[in-house]
Amino acid sequence: MKLNNKWLLTALLSTAACGLYAQQIPLDTAIHTGKLPNGLTYYIRHNEEPKKRVVMYLVNKVGSILEDNDQQGLAHFMEHMNFNGTKHYPKNELEDYLQKAGVRFGADLNAYTSYDETVFELPIPLDDPSMLNKGLGIIRDWAQDALLDSTDIAQERGVVLEEERLGLGAGERMRRQYMPILLNNSRYAVRTPIGLHSILTTFKPEQIRRFHSDWYRPDLQAVIVVGDINVKQVEAYIKAHFSDEKNPKNERVRTHYSIPLTGENRFVVVTDKEQPQTELNLIIKHKAGNIKTEADYLAAIKRGLFGQMLGARYGEQSLKPDKTYLSASAGISGLLGGLDAFSFSVVPKQGQLEAAVKQGWTIVKQVEKYGFTQDELDRAKKNYLSGMEASLKEASKVSSQNYVKALQSLFLHGEAQPSIQWEYDFVKSHLDAITTQEVNSVASEYIKDNNRDILLIAPDSAKANLPDSATVTGWFSSIENGNIAPYKEIATAANAMLLKTLPTPGKVVKEDSIPKLGITEMTLSNGVKVLLKPTTYQNDAISFMGFAPGGTSLSTLSNYVSAGNATSMLSNMGLGNYDPIQLSRLLTGKIASAGTFISDRTEGAQGSSNQKDLETALQLLYLKFTQPRMDTAIYRNIITSAKQSLAHKYSNPANIFRDTVSYFLSNYNERSRPFTVDRIDELNLDTAYNFYKERFADASAFTFVFVGNFNVDSIRPLLETYLGSLPATHANAAAKDLGIRPPEGRLTKIVRAGTEDKASVEILLTGKYQYSAVNNLLLYTAGEVLELKLLRDIREKEAEVYSPSVKTNEAKEPEQRYSLAVSFGCAPKNVDHLVAMVEQEIDSMKNNISDEDVQKVKLAYQKQMEQAMETNGFWLSYIVGKEQVHENLNDIFDRQKNLDAVTPETVRNWVKEHLTGKNFISLELLPQEDVK
Ligand SMILES: [Zn+2]
Repeated sequence: MKLNNKWLLTALLSTAACGLYAQQIPLDTAIHTGKLPNGLTYYIRHNEEPKKRVVMYLVNKVGSILEDNDQQGLAHFMEHMNFNGTKHYPKNELEDYLQKAGVRFGADLNAYTSYDETVFELPIPLDDPSMLNKGLGIIRDWAQDALLDSTDIAQERGVVLEEERLGLGAGERMRRQYMPILLNNSRYAVRTPIGLHSILTTFKPEQIRRFHSDWYRPDLQAVIVVGDINVKQVEAYIKAHFSDEKNPKNERVRTHYSIPLTGENRFVVVTDKEQPQTELNLIIKHKAGNIKTEADYLAAIKRGLFGQMLGARYGEQSLKPDKTYLSASAGISGLLGGLDAFSFSVVPKQGQLEAAVKQGWTIVKQVEKYGFTQDELDRAKKNYLSGMEASLKEASKVSSQNYVKALQSLFLHGEAQPSIQWEYDFVKSHLDAITTQEVNSVASEYIKDNNRDILLIAPDSAKANLPDSATVTGWFSSIENGNIAPYKEIATAANAMLLKTLPTPGKVVKEDSIPKLGITEMTLSNGVKVLLKPTTYQNDAISFMGFAPGGTSLSTLSNYVSAGNATSMLSNMGLGNYDPIQLSRLLTGKIASAGTFISDRTEGAQGSSNQKDLETALQLLYLKFTQPRMDTAIYRNIITSAKQSLAHKYSNPANIFRDTVSYFLSNYNERSRPFTVDRIDELNLDTAYNFYKERFADASAFTFVFVGNFNVDSIRPLLETYLGSLPATHANAAAKDLGIRPPEGRLTKIVRAGTEDKASVEILLTGKYQYSAVNNLLLYTAGEVLELKLLRDIREKEAEVYSPSVKTNEAKEPEQRYSLAVSFGCAPKNVDHLVAMVEQEIDSMKNNISDEDVQKVKLAYQKQMEQAMETNGFWLSYIVGKEQVHENLNDIFDRQKNLDAVTPETVRNWVKEHLTGKNFISLELLPQEDVK
């Protein structure tokens, strides 16, 4: 247990029950846990969010840290091999089997390998109850029954090497240099999970089999099962499946490694030609403790309050005109190997590294010297408590996925998992008594003069002008020894309110309903249309969205840059009479938000709140429409920062590729010209403000949709007050078709940037078509079937791509069009071959689509829809989407009929008719030097 002395003293003085705090936090009684005689741990929890589904995890306390020298990278390789041949699922049969059950590879089924753990995730539908036992059978195979056949290993090698290739770039090159130093040259420094290229390319099957037999064993494993299940039944299944699992003879000791604290301070400089800007990081390492006792929990609350208040100070500073940095932040976060850290990081404005470091660090020193004010602490407590109240209200809606994650952390780190009610009660009874001194002491606990690393990252071009260790240390000590003024609380009027006077309400003039969907439709006296769908998917959450046609399509070309950036700029400038800081003060402890957006063809607003704060969210919305705030000082800040960030945008090859692609795909339309430094000069605050005001001047063009746990009758007056009072000009605006379309024909666009041996490819097939529910489903199915084929052929068979992805898209307006995009990363030498293969795969779909593939896609789609339809988010976007293209909301009841129309034959015909290859664009990012 970790207690700092100051805290102990306060605890002794303030309460007689200090012994209570050493008390272990009780495990949530809803969790059923046990251990088999062979050492395997299990956790089972019944949970009906979502219904008829279960999430199962196999958690291994095994990761790259346990690799022998000749095994670097094989913990991760082993994770892959569990999907490439196990006792009951040889070769790739597991993937095939699960796809047939409606489980999607990657999206549902997944796994990861880290330094200390390897985790396998299996969420499955339980419509067929026998899937529960079968699922546990799969987990059992993963636990110890990988076949590790030599041919399968050889086959997977290419896939893992492609995964390694995706990670190459400036970030990886620099990490390889500084991580060993940050990690004190501990074992963590030389056991990166991806491993060593030389080992991945040459290892013998024996090396990975040794890893498997040494470490895949019951005493290092937990099975976690959370879902719509019977706990006793699952326990019986687990006993049946796992009791025969054996620990190896003469088992190796599972050492728990940690990063030793050396007490030393280090200064590290790393530069790279593709690093866009200079940044300085200060990391103070600290021994971490897990939350096990009540004292730990209380300390964590204090750290939470400390982090919140420190973050708020940086937020305030970031709005000041004399700011010398582009960004700065500080806080406590977890590191590796039993450490956490207080870190400070700053990105200076051009040529202002010294000033930026000093200005940014002063905020930390100010806290250390004077602490936080009572007002700051009161606000932080209010926010903390309302967050806790929200969790308690949604306690019955926590998803199985979240519960599994929590249990994983219990198994791996011994992190306590009490019930939400316990956490709420604990916070409620202890929060009040926490004093500023107690929270301030977090600073002295973490901000120390030793175990401090300073990491300076910069572009190669800045190398000559970078300061040395003594200089930077001097900057820090000049702040520690200088005069620091105390923090001045920004005064806010005691009884300030968002709206001083309430607007004159409008009236509901028409009311209708769509009974089958439980939707109420209202028209307000100013012409605003509102659709309301009350739900109980969450206990205390309401989401809303409003939209109107127009968007930037109605701006002139010369005003386009200002119009397109209007909402993002104004959203940082406050509302009404309040600047952003005063605004955030007014919203202390409230759960309410509202924002606006202007896109190509629409403008709109969206927001959310709990029941209690819906009125606040609507007031924010009202102000967004009627009283956006201009702030020239903030504007100047935005412009300087944007110019400096954009100046180095193209150091990163991915940015060059992205910009080139979108300009190319707009057929070089002026509006899509890459946003670079020179375009900033086209920005004008007045133009942006005026365009914004114009787009939000006519509420009669807006349709609002509300989804969530509310009562129609009780929110009607709020809607009349805040939406019914919005100004309306009845201008009848419509979006303009600017004729922006992708180029036609067979085209290849090559971009050369970057020096690593890696390529990115995006293949795009587009065209006109008839927009309809069935056609959209055929397009979707064609895309998904293509992805299944690519997974089998270019990943599993050719092993030239790690993860091919296919995305489809449809638009009804301004023209009925579809697009199908295939994207992947690969070796530059394979680009031509792979592009040809993708085209062949598409071609082959014209004659041959298997019933099995279509069934897999349809089933996964159905499962996904069943789950989505139990969420507010789905209904909000469904209703908005249908309303935007003027379609009937009841169409959703045709979904089975539409899905029935999807057969191998109809998909084949759709592909034949549309994916002819006439419009086939290949966009390729290749390295600068031709390495083909
Ligand atoms: Zn992997």
